[in-house]
Amino acid sequence: MQNLSIPAAFSQLDSPAYIIDTDLLRKNLEILADVQKRAGCKILLAQKAFSMPEVYPLIGEYLAGTTASGLFEARLGYEEMPGKEVHVFKPAYGEAEMDQLVKIAGHMVFNSFDQWMHFKDKALSHGVSCGIRLNPACSTQEGHEIYDPCAPGSRLGVTKENFRPELLDGLEGLHFHTLCEQNADALVTTLAAIEEQFGEYLPRMKWLNFGGGHHITRPDYDIETLVREVRRIRERYGVEVYLEPGEAVALNAGFLVAHLLDTVHNGLTAGILDVSAACHMPDVLEMPYRPYIIGSGEAGEKEYTYRFGGPTCLAGDIIGDYSFDHQLQKGEMLVFTDMAIYSFVKNNTFNGMPLPILATYSEKDGLKIIRKFGYEDFRMRLG
Ligand SMILES: *Cc1c(COP(=O)(O)O)cnc(C)c1O
Repeated sequence: MQNLSIPAAFSQLDSPAYIIDTDLLRKNLEILADVQKRAGCKILLAQKAFSMPEVYPLIGEYLAGTTASGLFEARLGYEEMPGKEVHVFKPAYGEAEMDQLVKIAGHMVFNSFDQWMHFKDKALSHGVSCGIRLNPACSTQEGHEIYDPCAPGSRLGVTKENFRPELLDGLEGLHFHTLCEQNADALVTTLAAIEEQFGEYLPRMKWLNFGGGHHITRPDYDIETLVREVRRIRERYGVEVYLEPGEAVALNAGFLVAHLLDTVHNGLTAGILDVSAACHMPDVLEMPYRPYIIGSGEAGEKEYTYRFGGPTCLAGDIIGDYSFDHQLQKGEMLVFTDMAIYSFVKNNTFNGMPLPILATYSEKDGLKIIRKFGYEDFRMRLG
């Protein structure tokens, strides 16, 4: 990551822009396709992390389809990745939404037996393969309770205590999603909990969905263990296995190009950028984490240190502290890495902030602007 160089084309963009590098995206997809082949499973794009219809045809070359968190994402996958599988899980479906969903979703996961009973006839009469989400109450992550569906009191998934074996008739699948940015060791732990609590129901199922949070395309990810576990589950229970990563599909495949607008001195040097943590990279505040900027060091590591913040009026709109070998000039370009996932899908126009340009880049085709946004996009959402 430290050795990344910035393609010259990026400097042609004078406004903040997300740039999806399709060469890097393809590299991730090749890794995922190899897992599918070797493990004998199907991998879906979890659109919540990354949904850019422009590259859906590319993703569709490699993956089995998409998964959605509701009607709009399901429709996006259905329309933009034609012919591929459409899965959906939502913590609770509404009536009108269900009428639309059953027409486009091939697989549907329910979060409770009440919802399953309520929508069973409608879903089955449309030929939807239905499943139920499990909560194995097995936390394998620390610190980020906001991302832990197994945290005490969680509304996500059916616990062993609430499981209703007498209502399984018609259900073809089980689903769990408990991981977040984790390696295969956490999957091993989770599968052991799933098998112990729910293993007796697996032989009568057609599929088991392992959810997302598998950081498969990270260099240190233990792919061999993942492949081994998928094969073991398939063979032992005779089920088809699905994985639905979001992050891993577009990990490190995108950039956010920003510019320095001004510096302010108040005990430290504050750099005000044309991008905002609150609007353009909300996970910086929610996770929280400090995104990497190409060519930068930790605070104090290089000669010139800056605390970067956005141009909104929110005092806490702080991206982080960074140092550089040279004094930054106003108007200078700064390139944030790993900005494809959970970034533009979460954008908002708080404080009248413009939405950054969406673009793609590849060595062969260069820079391609997908969409520019303007005042109308801000105005429209305000009624
Ligand atoms: C968020 C989510 C995913 C994708 O998670 P990543 O951490 O992006 O891999 C998959 N399945 C469900 C049910 C989710 O909520």
